[in-house]
Order: sequence, then C-alpha cells, then structure tokens
Amino acid sequence: MAEQNAPYRILLYYKFVNVIDHEALASEHLAFCKKLGIKGRILIAPEGINGTLSGTVEQTDAYMKMMSQMPLFKDMVYKIDESEGHAFKKLFVRPKKELVTFRLEEDVNPNQLTGVHLKPKDFYEKLQQEDVIVLDGRNHYEYDIGHFRGAIRPEVETTREFPEWIRNNLEQYKDKPILTYCTGGIRCEKLSGFLINEGFKEVYQLDGGIVTYGKDEEVKGRLFDGKCYVFDERISVPINRTEEDVIVGKCYHCGKAEDRYINCANDLCHLKHICCEACEEEHNSFCSTECEEKTMSRLEA
Ligand SMILES: [Zn+2]
Ligand SMILES: [Zn+2]
Repeated sequence: MAEQNAPYRILLYYKFVNVIDHEALASEHLAFCKKLGIKGRILIAPEGINGTLSGTVEQTDAYMKMMSQMPLFKDMVYKIDESEGHAFKKLFVRPKKELVTFRLEEDVNPNQLTGVHLKPKDFYEKLQQEDVIVLDGRNHYEYDIGHFRGAIRPEVETTREFPEWIRNNLEQYKDKPILTYCTGGIRCEKLSGFLINEGFKEVYQLDGGIVTYGKDEEVKGRLFDGKCYVFDERISVPINRTEEDVIVGKCYHCGKAEDRYINCANDLCHLKHICCEACEEEHNSFCSTECEEKTMSRLEA
C-alpha cells in the first residue's frame, strides 16, 4: 500500500495526575514524539497531561504503547477518530502552568473535587429531566456551531473568563441540578469542581465529552444540535447520527444556515466568524468592509 493511502488516526486524551517535573517531562516527550513523526498539541503541567495528535495507525499505536509503559499514564483513556491524513500541521509539546486555565484564587484539583461523571446514556436521560440546567462548558464560538438542545451559551471567549461569568450569571440556579459538558471532558473536570465550590448543590458532567457522546451506539448523538467544534484542521465534526441532524450556525454576513468558520483575512483582526462560501468570495474573506479597506490601503502604502 502506498504511504499516502495509509490510514491515520486522531487521538484525544487527558489525565489529571501529579507531575513532579513537568518541564523535564515535556522536553522528553517532545523528543519522543518528534522521533515518532506524530503531529499535534500536547500540554504538560504539574496537574497532568492533555493532548490531541494525529499520525498513522503505526505511529499512534507506538505512542499509546509508550504511554502505557509510563506509570503516570498507563491507564489513559483515548478517544480515537479515523482520518485520511494528519489533522495538524505541526507538533507542539509544551510545559504549562495549568491544563485548564481558570486562574482561581483557590485552585480545584479534579482528583479531589469534581462533579458526578455521567455516561452518554445517563447524560441523555438527565437532559430530558424537567428543571435541569444545562451549561455549555466551552467558549461562545464553539457553542455557536453546535450544542446540546436548551444549553446555556456562556458569554466567554476563553476558559479563564468562566469563573467571573458564572458568578455574575448563574447565581439563581444553585439549587437546581446542573449538567455540564465540553469537547472531550477535560474542561468540565475543573468547571464542575468550581461550581461545587461556588455552592451549586447537584453538579454533573458528561464523561468523555461530546466526542464520546457522539460515538455512543445507543444514544447516537441525540439532542446535540449542529456540529462539534474541534481544535484541529477538521474545525468541526458531526455528532448527531439521527435524522435530527441540523445546522445551527448562521453566516456572519447573510444569516444563512452555515457551520463553517473562517478567520478574517485582515492580519490585525483575524476574527473567527461563521461564513458561507458565497460571502467568503464576495467579501474576500474579510469580516467587514472596514477590515477590507484597511488591508487594501496597507498593501498600497
Ligand atoms: Zn453568507
Ligand atoms: Zn476583520
């Protein structure tokens, strides 16, 4: 079989575990990943590891085998997608202060405090329960192309804005059951612990995130509307595998149902916006005439 036809895989995984020297581990990990030829983004912090990477079946097998030989990561759970090629252009392995950047006065350790994990089927059933509050644990641009039906859209652009937004907006729901979810589950590990610390009495989180929910054979992604935003070159992946699959995003320019994202072509803007193909052509990939004019005058200058 020719090399370019070799099947690829995309792995998504995380684990909260105490890493003694995260900087040393990151540079060791980088050397190993380079040698393997995998691509992607791996973060290593004192509180654990979070990675998403792509490679051939052989490369990803070798990666998982290496991880299984490390005491810290031997019980890692991987979400695995098939792919026709790499989903990343480069490889980054970076030491970080935190895996989920909340920058709390008092940090939450998910190994000590976190919400109740629900399997897809149990999450699906709870979703339909009356008086339940569903909170999207992601940023607004992720919500805008797909989310669980009835979920609250957080007005945040980055994870670190969550604590303040929750304190200002969700106070009235403290006595209700609250369900949180995110892409692969990692953000909810901390978000749910934070909610408990804030006085929310009944906090649940979707185990394995939307990605795992979409793979469940029984639930088939039901009650998830639109697509799931992912942080690789696919940009989004389908979740709902029933006839209820819909498009929830709207073109930034014309309002037509659409779920593809582009970045504004103005280098000083780069606004991530949903844009249909016709509008991308008409506006030359700019988010506004202002951005287009500014860029043109810079080029002419
Ligand atoms: Zn349009
Ligand atoms: Zn712009």
